[in-house]
Amino acid sequence: MDTKISLVQRGAIEKVGSTFVEAFGHTNALLVADGNTLRVAGFATVRSLEKAGIEVRRFIFPELPQPYADEHSIAQVRLSLEMDNCIAVVLGSGTLNDITKRASSELDRPYMVVATAPSVDGYTSYGAAVSIKGFKQTLSCAAPQVVLADTDILCEAPSDMIASGYGDCMAKFTAGMDWILADLLGVQAIRSDVWDMVQKPLRSVYAHHHGIANRQREGIGLLFDALSASGFAMQIMHDSRPASGAEHLISHIWEMEHLSKDGLAVSHGFKVAVGTMTIVHLYEELASLDISDCYGKSSQSWEERKQAILSFFPNEKVAEEALAVSKAKFLEGEALQARRKALIALLPALKQRIAEQLPPAQELRSTLLEVGCPVHPSHINATLVDLKRAVLGAQMIRNRYTVLDLYYELGLFDRALECLEGLSGRVD
Ligand SMILES: [Zn+2]
Repeated sequence: MDTKISLVQRGAIEKVGSTFVEAFGHTNALLVADGNTLRVAGFATVRSLEKAGIEVRRFIFPELPQPYADEHSIAQVRLSLEMDNCIAVVLGSGTLNDITKRASSELDRPYMVVATAPSVDGYTSYGAAVSIKGFKQTLSCAAPQVVLADTDILCEAPSDMIASGYGDCMAKFTAGMDWILADLLGVQAIRSDVWDMVQKPLRSVYAHHHGIANRQREGIGLLFDALSASGFAMQIMHDSRPASGAEHLISHIWEMEHLSKDGLAVSHGFKVAVGTMTIVHLYEELASLDISDCYGKSSQSWEERKQAILSFFPNEKVAEEALAVSKAKFLEGEALQARRKALIALLPALKQRIAEQLPPAQELRSTLLEVGCPVHPSHINATLVDLKRAVLGAQMIRNRYTVLDLYYELGLFDRALECLEGLSGRVD
């Protein structure tokens, strides 16, 4: 693993400097933050580094407009890093971490992250989720060499950031289910050590939803640990499969479209929470699917598929990427027939596994709402039509087998979209 030091404890912010020296020696540091994270822990971080004899330069993004992880932000941080041999210490959330991770990796330098909220699992993951020329993708780059989090600071994080982290954590239910599906189909085998790293802490976070909603130290600590563990799982696999399934692909479409509410980008965890409820709903619908529903459905020709992709993505570059991905997984003729046969044959086993892996939708929905997560597109300034569109696009952008591919290959994608009418945003 790239991460050599992970320090999560009360008062850890005082140890930023000594930890930095332990990892990198007496090198200069570049503090990367935004107006927000600078206020939360910036001065304590700089003080701790300076106390350890480290010279600190600063690269501060403005609070508004919110920083966006794209090639421009990455270039800005890289240019600043290039001024000397400094090592970046990034203070903050998913976006800042992704920008710094990628910029450091382009210069082949390690870096350190100081977490300010339990809001995403990207703190410890190896790749960076960024948009290049408008196409959202996970670029490979090394995970941080040092992760440090002060639990006092995590507990004081804004409620919506804690809720975001809870949403990103709950996504591991559906991500896991998609992995089970891929495993049953022989597309991508489950690695049981990595599986346990993600799925065990997930269950304990789920059991502590009440404590998390009330910012109890134990629950917040469990949430941060679970998010870190899924980042470590991705480091080990060099793949985000253990932590990300169709619910993340839905959120990637919304990220590319800059979904926002009240002028602010909707957080990763919030988009993923709505994606998770959507995918749970699609799996529950699958449980009621009869084998006879799966026979004789028509399938798209590649030409029809190509036209659908071109009309979905007006941006030429983005359409090109989506075409390449979709072509790589497109099945027709005998290969499609064989896949359909395999899917139909595994349906009974799949139904059993769905019942074991996924909590009932209603129960999951109420814990998400309790913690403050959205569960329906209308909660994040999107309509049901927007959701259906995102689900359609989600199946076009990545060659990772998910329940969306199952519906597509069985010729039941329209049925999947139709059943989203039944998605509930109700508080029970
Ligand atoms: Zn995520």
